[in-house]
Amino acid sequence: MPVPQHLNLVGGEWVDGERRPNHNPARPGEVVSEYARADRDTARAAVAAARAAQPGWARRPVGDRMAILDRIGSAILSRVDDLAVLLAREEGKLLAEARGEVTRAGQTFRYYAHQLLQPQGEVYASTRENVHAEVRRRPLGVVGVITPWNYPLAIPAWKVAPALAYGNTVVLKPAELVPASAGELARIVAGAGTPPGVFNLVTGSGREVGEELLTSRDIDGISFTGGTGTGAHVARQCIAHGNKRFQLEMGGKNPLVVLDDADLEVAVRCALDGSFFSSGQRCTASSRLIVQAGIHDRFVEALATAADALRVGDPLDPGSDLGPVVSPDQLAQNLDYVRIGRDEGATVVAGGAHRADEGQFMRPTLFADARNDMRLAREEIFGPVSCVIRVDDLDEAIDVAGDTPYGLSAGIVTTSLAAAERFKRDARAGIVTVNLPTAGTELHLPFGGTGASNHGPREQGGYARDFYSVPVTCYTGW
Ligand code: NAP
Repeated sequence: MPVPQHLNLVGGEWVDGERRPNHNPARPGEVVSEYARADRDTARAAVAAARAAQPGWARRPVGDRMAILDRIGSAILSRVDDLAVLLAREEGKLLAEARGEVTRAGQTFRYYAHQLLQPQGEVYASTRENVHAEVRRRPLGVVGVITPWNYPLAIPAWKVAPALAYGNTVVLKPAELVPASAGELARIVAGAGTPPGVFNLVTGSGREVGEELLTSRDIDGISFTGGTGTGAHVARQCIAHGNKRFQLEMGGKNPLVVLDDADLEVAVRCALDGSFFSSGQRCTASSRLIVQAGIHDRFVEALATAADALRVGDPLDPGSDLGPVVSPDQLAQNLDYVRIGRDEGATVVAGGAHRADEGQFMRPTLFADARNDMRLAREEIFGPVSCVIRVDDLDEAIDVAGDTPYGLSAGIVTTSLAAAERFKRDARAGIVTVNLPTAGTELHLPFGGTGASNHGPREQGGYARDFYSVPVTCYTGW
């Protein structure tokens, strides 16, 4: 089978660069695709093309923009099978999850096509005589989109689709670990009749290409998803270089609380999914399991047994429950945290060992006897590693859950309506789940966190408009 080739897309032209292979994390040495690496000059040209195209795109009738977004969504949905295989091979997630992600990406474009038919402004009564007051929206302008590797298609889609819908032009810089999914997205966007320069793709490193976007005076806003440390740098650069608007979605250390009254089976299912599925490589993963004393021992035993039973294998094999971790660096970081957890005095009750001949396949690892002040419980690991912290009651559980710099998602498993309501009220997180895993969100609802997990307006749903457009307050006298 020929290896797909992906070039950069700049002003409607396919632009070559230094060719690099993209490897399959499940099969070392297997090349999934080859991509042309962008440099600063390519990034600069992409920004210039986006700048030139923006006024024309914003003035296009809404019907045209809708039709283009709808065609992009339909084209993605017509290719779920092949795009899912590509995604699974480049990122390592299970084929079924990859199919879900591709479907989500396609639906997202169609959703924003139709969002354009929603009201786009507000009319107010003026306090003055013979004055009409209204709030209109204008596009932000040129948007730089910087994305992580864990959702190679869905995250670009949930940023690019609203950006284009609301009249912005885009320069997308995907994570260099996953160039193929973004490369295919660019082909689809270009093939849907998107005018040249409206969508541009530059695949290169964060340090070079990403930095060019952050420092460019021709970019009006940056939508970033990635680690909290990188996000802080993005914020500083945006302020220093033109006071750009920025939106940051970052890391998490998400708690799942299990109360004594929980249905044990539901609790184990939520913890297993939240902690280990997708190899723990979800920003909404549950990496702290905060468990009340009365159910603690039964829960730990049942979860450890279930974790040990998970089959780690090739993402294309329907028998696999978990794929590999994305890269050797990520694996090294995960194993480092396993060592740290042991050194800190937590007890491994599932997994915990890794042999060199297992490559990037890592068994789910569960720690018991963790405390919330351990690094194991405070720092984002982003791998199939979770820990159990014992608490006495709901009050302590809520305190421990909120005792983190992060605040993306938080869940509770309980049969008490009062406890569920209390948790929804008091949990310090942007997403709260009851009797469901902390991961798993829907495209028409706002997504985002608090604290070190987020800065700026929410993504997804109708809330995305708050970032990608600027309110303009108009007073008309007559
Ligand atoms: P990362 O290392 O922060 O990278 C994210 C993106 O930023 C990549 O495209 C990266 O480029 C780029 N980048 C790195 N340095 C940059 C710089 N100096 N200037 C501009 N761009 C730069 O994160 P990751 O390892 O890809 O993803 C994992 C992280 O993402 C985790 O912390 C996870 O929690 C978070 N995440 C959050 C959400 C959310 O919605 N809250 C969703 C998914 C993931 P290169 O890597 O190509 O160099």
